[in-house]
Amino acid sequence: MMSIDTQVYCQRCGGATELRLHDGRERPKCLTCGAITFFDPKLAVAVLVEREGRLLLGRRAQGARAAGKWSFPAGFVERGEPVETAAAREVMEEVGLNVEIGALIGLYSYQGEDVALAVYIAGKSTGEPFAQDDLDQVGWFEIDDLPDLAFPHDRQIIGDWSSQKPAASNQQSDPGSRG
Ligand SMILES: [Zn+2]
Repeated sequence: MMSIDTQVYCQRCGGATELRLHDGRERPKCLTCGAITFFDPKLAVAVLVEREGRLLLGRRAQGARAAGKWSFPAGFVERGEPVETAAAREVMEEVGLNVEIGALIGLYSYQGEDVALAVYIAGKSTGEPFAQDDLDQVGWFEIDDLPDLAFPHDRQIIGDWSSQKPAASNQQSDPGSRG
């Protein structure tokens, strides 16, 4: 995803910075006051919405990153916002659906990546989805007939989701033997 390692000015005094090795990594160091800038990761959230075994995906519009490819409703969590609230908000903003946010599928982060992505399953959803925000089309897809996905981790996420699904149906048919 995007890089946020390009800060020029010191967060303490506003002075110019230069990349210097500090604690084993190059970090901006202020040329005026010497303060080191440590970058936090950004937290993003994505939601898998399923109906009748099919997964809701949106096609990314021209001008968006990975334009023309498909991905889940997703976006950044704002500071002070509960992650589940951000998840529901992004689904509403991108595909116009009211969803209850269900279980966390996983938290995905990679070496050198600025963004950590939390992925949830949607519980009940109401309404018909339509593309808005940075999407130009939406569709429901069978897991074995997916379109061109936007991001390398998308397929892993779908795989994780699929492998967690049988646990839910086992629970329904045989509630006594879990664990
Ligand atoms: Zn400074």
